[in-house]
Amino acid sequence: MDRPATQAATDVRHPRTGESAFAARLAREIQGEVLFDAASRGRYSTDASIYQIEPVGVVVPKTEADARVAIQIAAAEGVPILPRGGGTSQCGQTVGAALVIDNSKFLNQVLAFDAAARTAVVQPGVVLDQLNAYLRPHGLWFPVDVSTSAQATLGGMAGNNSCGSRSIRYGNMVHNVLGIDALLADGSEFHFGSSDALAGGPQAYQDLVARVHAVVRREAAEIEARWPKVLRRVQGYNIDMVQPGVEASMLPHNLAHLLVGSEGTLAYTRRLHLALSPLPRHKTLGVCHFPTFHQAMLAPQHIVKLAPTAVELVDRTMIELARGNAAFKPVVNRFLKGDPDAILLVEFAGDDRGEQLAKLKQLVELMADLGFPGGVVEITDVSLQKDLWEVRKAGLNIMMSMKGEGKPVSFIEDCAVPLEHLAEYTDKLTQVFAKHGTRGTWYAHASVGTLHVRPVLNMKGDGARKMRAIAEEASQLVRSYKGAAYSGEHGDGLVRTEWIAPIIGARLMRALEEIKDLFDPRNLMNPGKIVRGTKQDDRSLFRFKPGYAVQRFDTALDWSEWNAPSVPGADAAASAAASQGFMAAVEMCNNNGHCRKFDAGSMCPSYRATGNERDLTRGRANTLRLALSGQLGADAFTSDAMRETMDLCVSCKGCKRECPTGVDMAKMKIEFLYHYGKRHGIALKDRLIAWLPRYAPWAARLPWLANLRDAIPGLAALSESMLGLSAKRSLPKWRGDAFLSGSAAGPATGTQQAEVVLLIDTFTNYFEPENARAALAVLQAAGYRVHLARAGDGERPLCCGRTFLASGLVDEAKAEARRTIDALRPYVARGLPVIGLEPSCLYTLRDEFKAMLPGAESDALAARAVLFEEFLAAEHQAGRLNLKLAPLAQKKALLHGHCHQKAFGAMSSVEQVLGLVPELKVETVTSSCCGMAGAFGYEAAHYEVSMNMAEAALLPALRKADADTLLVADGTSCRHQIHDGLRAGNENSSTPREAVHVAQVLARALAAPAGR
Ligand SMILES: Cc1cc2nc3c(=O)[nH]c(=O)nc-3n(C[C@H](O)[C@H](O)[C@H](O)COP(=O)(O)OP(=O)(O)OC[C@H]3O[C@@H](n4cnc5c(N)ncnc54)[C@H](O)[C@@H]3O)c2cc1C
Ligand code: SF4
Ligand code: SF4
Repeated sequence: MDRPATQAATDVRHPRTGESAFAARLAREIQGEVLFDAASRGRYSTDASIYQIEPVGVVVPKTEADARVAIQIAAAEGVPILPRGGGTSQCGQTVGAALVIDNSKFLNQVLAFDAAARTAVVQPGVVLDQLNAYLRPHGLWFPVDVSTSAQATLGGMAGNNSCGSRSIRYGNMVHNVLGIDALLADGSEFHFGSSDALAGGPQAYQDLVARVHAVVRREAAEIEARWPKVLRRVQGYNIDMVQPGVEASMLPHNLAHLLVGSEGTLAYTRRLHLALSPLPRHKTLGVCHFPTFHQAMLAPQHIVKLAPTAVELVDRTMIELARGNAAFKPVVNRFLKGDPDAILLVEFAGDDRGEQLAKLKQLVELMADLGFPGGVVEITDVSLQKDLWEVRKAGLNIMMSMKGEGKPVSFIEDCAVPLEHLAEYTDKLTQVFAKHGTRGTWYAHASVGTLHVRPVLNMKGDGARKMRAIAEEASQLVRSYKGAAYSGEHGDGLVRTEWIAPIIGARLMRALEEIKDLFDPRNLMNPGKIVRGTKQDDRSLFRFKPGYAVQRFDTALDWSEWNAPSVPGADAAASAAASQGFMAAVEMCNNNGHCRKFDAGSMCPSYRATGNERDLTRGRANTLRLALSGQLGADAFTSDAMRETMDLCVSCKGCKRECPTGVDMAKMKIEFLYHYGKRHGIALKDRLIAWLPRYAPWAARLPWLANLRDAIPGLAALSESMLGLSAKRSLPKWRGDAFLSGSAAGPATGTQQAEVVLLIDTFTNYFEPENARAALAVLQAAGYRVHLARAGDGERPLCCGRTFLASGLVDEAKAEARRTIDALRPYVARGLPVIGLEPSCLYTLRDEFKAMLPGAESDALAARAVLFEEFLAAEHQAGRLNLKLAPLAQKKALLHGHCHQKAFGAMSSVEQVLGLVPELKVETVTSSCCGMAGAFGYEAAHYEVSMNMAEAALLPALRKADADTLLVADGTSCRHQIHDGLRAGNENSSTPREAVHVAQVLARALAAPAGR
């Protein structure tokens, strides 16, 4: 017998009653993952909103049958059900005390595709960018181009009725979904599709349709009178679109359109039938400049008459943020004229290039008519258009990186007003913000009257009160414009459900409840969203609930950078606790899900390899936040669950650069390991690796002994069982000709006056001294006077401390950092560049030194520390590089970037430097982490994940390379991974392929006969 929902939900959350029985039954009956532990539930308790509700548990179905069984079991137990995709929603619709069904890991297949009919059938976990990558070769795309296209799943997009920048041309999700195969909580399964399907459906289906029709027909007059008319009307259920005849020109009558935008409250979407669009062949872009924001807001009503595909607003704050960013400044300078208060990006797209150019001309004329002659910068260059759109996206990211307690909060950020009211609406809302002591930055979809704006509020302090006050006034304002919508893009969820009724009225609100009850009479599907919701400002549902407090402890690293001042109105006690820098840095994660990227950039390789929320930057940040605020029980921060969460982080620093809010998980992992080590001790394997720089001089004296592990059969297996080092890996070979102990280690060498310091790291010195020799030769050939950095104590070479940091041995790493700073002080004082070869070592000087030993000396050294290729590229750009290079036999170089090269923006330097070799064509592999990541990949426990990371992109790309293509990788562990990866299955080859350091390439070019 079915249990009542509320009773069962309480039972199952009790650790010794329903929960274990429920979880056990799920685990028995499905193949997929069943996650009921506290940390997993915590990781699924947030989306990109301000809310946090712990779910009953999580199921990650492996098959559609799994999803079906999980829903059946939950329904039988009376447990609410919450379907989930990327969890990137901004309104709290993806959190709830329910069984979460995460479709993103396994249910992500394109099941059918018909290029001629331009249709596809997909599972709900397919990510938009993945679908579009699949469609691109066929000249098609799915055109609902949400900003979160690399994370948003089609199921989640349908759940939210998502809308993209180009909705004025392509419509919202609802206009692009042809049908949905859905599971209802009562166990029934229907295909909801066009009106053609109605007649033939089963009786239960026909009954449901008839009842829905009865409601919408009864309310037709009220819908006509009260329902918003703008395109971006995503509140409630789309009852205006399921009346036969409505929008008949665009849509056949289709009940699937009721499920679109229903936020998982009516049914679970098992499959989506999608309409596809042809990819436009040509695009042009006009950047319209306005002296005032108000004038910019008056213009869209006229511009849309030219039928653009997008009209996007960028205001002064965003422009300034972009201008202040080194990467974007050159792009901004290419399209910006003078000092506008706002710009509108107007895009035209289609197959006829002439037509797009003509449209651009019309835009120029229109702007002149509006009083802005010469106000358009015309952009026809495709790559500049692409760069410009990137700037538009990055502006939001920079805004979101605001430090301190005050954050831009999403709650009224997508009201949609008819274009003729846009200027007045933005003026009035700005006044509302000012009245409440805050302000907002405006951007986004001017074409459809949906402007994003986020007032800065402190949600640990008086943010809730201000939020309600602003929301009340914004709601009244929107109501005053006939046809306007309060939810114009991101949905209702917890933040806007209570604001549906003020817009559509109590009568239509009751109609929505009737619809809900027809589909889900037991209120099991994502309860509390869209109908019968909670108060927006119910702080018990917030991420920062009343009483939220942060544990206090001494940190190993300096986190004061995040101790930004609070905004006025903050609760003093809470503010003081949260201002503890480490926690403030952790709290920077706002769950936007950007780390779920799968193609461009590095972030986050461990998630790419496993697909687990746990192994994602977001998952780690959430677990840290919950642990540090005492929500996962006592000592959770140093628990084994925490260790598991951090385990697969390869410290690539991808997030440090690519996370919009700058979450630096590599640094957080060091802090965690330090405290974990203090409590649990350090494993022998980790000690062996950590202390390598200290025993290296001895090992190098007897290399045959140090290398025995790989020379004697059976020892590798023994090392695996005793130490946990994978027997499938060879270890780096100790060399008897270490660079710093040989003849090269003399005094400063070179002929000219320009002096540099070469800092040779432990790995280069003892395992690959030829790289140091190559670098020295190149620098000398270029005429530099090279000082070799040496320790003042003369005991052993200098060390950056990276191996200690990798085990959380921060005190030992600090000692190494101190030695290095002391030894380099005289050079740094003279302003000499300190050049390193190994990215992870050199960047420790630029990054962790400042966190370990904050102060002027670390800052000064960090400012002088450069990678070999960065130094040469800068010298070349300054016109000072006098390096004579000749063509090599190989004409192509395939380059793999070390994660830290990417994180510190050094890839263009290595590309430029390789490009100095005459006739050498340089191509960079689009790859994330190679998977070796220092000692990570050597560990038996990590071997498989490590190889999965390498196989994700890097190794397949290298295998495709011609035999005479140079493989270049500047990281020592990357080279080892490439060696192992290319050898696998090719063990008997007499010429195994190896990657080389860029210094080797240049040195070979120096020596090439053709150049001499
Ligand atoms: C920085 C940022 C930018 C954004 N930009 C945009 C934008 O440009 N346009 C836009 O529209 N939105 C935007 N969003 C909001 C969000 O990213 C989109 O709505 C996205 O489509 C949600 O996809 P998801 O996979 O993350 O869905 P989720 O958040 O996981 O789910 C969304 C809703 O759909 C339901 N759902 C998920 N799967 C199913 C299923 N199988 N069956 C039934 N219901 C299901 C969920 O229960 C939930 O209610 C943005 C968000 C952020 C953080
Ligand atoms: S870690 Fe960064 S990218 Fe990932 S969800 Fe958090 S804020 Fe977004
Ligand atoms: S450092 Fe790399 S592996 Fe670790 S969380 Fe960040 S992106 Fe992921």
